Amino acid sequence: MPVAHVAIAGAGLAGRLLAWRCLRAGKRVSLFDAAARDDQRSAAMTAAAMLSPLAELAVADADVFALAQRSMALWPAWIAELVEDSGRSVYFRQQGTLVVSHAPDAPMLTRFTQVLQHKLPADQRARLRHVDAAELALLEPTLAGRFGGGVFLEGEGQLANDELMAALAIALDRRGVRWVERCAVESVRPQGLFTAQGVVDADLTIDTRGVGARADWPALRGVRGEVITVECAGVTLHRPVRLMHPRYQLYIAPRPNQRFVVGATELESEDAGPTTLRSMLELGSALYSLHPAFGEARVIRLAAALRPTLDDNCPALVQREGVWHLNGLYRHGFLCAPALVDRLARDING
Ligand SMILES: Cc1cc2nc3c(=O)[nH]c(=O)nc-3n(C[C@H](O)[C@H](O)[C@H](O)COP(=O)(O)OP(=O)(O)OC[C@H]3O[C@@H](n4cnc5c(N)ncnc54)[C@H](O)[C@@H]3O)c2cc1C
Repeated sequence: MPVAHVAIAGAGLAGRLLAWRCLRAGKRVSLFDAAARDDQRSAAMTAAAMLSPLAELAVADADVFALAQRSMALWPAWIAELVEDSGRSVYFRQQGTLVVSHAPDAPMLTRFTQVLQHKLPADQRARLRHVDAAELALLEPTLAGRFGGGVFLEGEGQLANDELMAALAIALDRRGVRWVERCAVESVRPQGLFTAQGVVDADLTIDTRGVGARADWPALRGVRGEVITVECAGVTLHRPVRLMHPRYQLYIAPRPNQRFVVGATELESEDAGPTTLRSMLELGSALYSLHPAFGEARVIRLAAALRPTLDDNCPALVQREGVWHLNGLYRHGFLCAPALVDRLARDING
């Protein structure tokens, strides 16, 4: 049966992207979320939104890498279309990642490089290369003299999640979405979404509620992540920098207006409460060790959220009993969502 009306539960990253792709294809879309559109508590609103197919391969498998590769090919065109649809700019950069370590932690950087060389497909290995102190200083003059060298990961990028989510909201409105805010979906069935306010009929239903879908998918769990956003006039970075550390891997993702998102903790905890003092101290001290000028950084935001995660830590797009489920994006939502959303949207839109 041709699909005219799509109902989506969850207006986080996956839900908004999918709604947008369906609207662009001429579908009627109803989008339901338990929160308001600018609520900051979802994983999407908290994320650093690094686009790191290579660095993440150290902890992910080949399927995630393939989805990431496909998504990296989609992002530039999707961002351009989104800017056109919304009239908003979306910060998106693809200038690689720099990975560094302090001298005592050099074995970690060596090990990281070995793992990547081992896991990367042969035709991708040249994207990882060692840089000496001189090249590092050219890439990031702020870090000149602070590290003996590092590793450069070509083609990696990042975007500003807040700008992306806001632009998607505008684009959805302009294309005529029916967006029902502050309305929790209790259950997703083939014939419609069940909410406290009644049942919403549709030709096709899709569940993108992240950890909120746990009642319908018990294998889902939340993995807590915390990030700090700082503003620091004294430091300029042109690309994300990862700092190898024995206990945590810190990344610093530059954003417009001298802002930096610093993250992220990863804790097997379903506590979505405020950032702990310990996490703040660990992230903050690692940031300060990257460059002392960060000591004067102003803390703009402390945020914590749950990453929706399945047993194998891999994303899943499955159709069960007539309902599509897109979930388990874990720490790879921005990295992998476009590929999965594109696959599902093509199926829906013919
Ligand atoms: C600290 C942190 C850092 C991260 N950094 C990165 C990164 O650098 N790169 C990267 O690729 N990924 C990163 N991620 C992961 C990424 O944010 C997630 O994978 C992604 O946001 C998951 O998207 P989603 O749409 O499945 O879930 P979410 O973005 O969480 O959206 C789920 C939506 O469903 C709604 N909802 C929940 N329950 C209900 C209900 N019952 N009814 C209706 N609506 C409901 C919620 O309100 C929410 O809007 C990070 C995550 C965190 C927490």
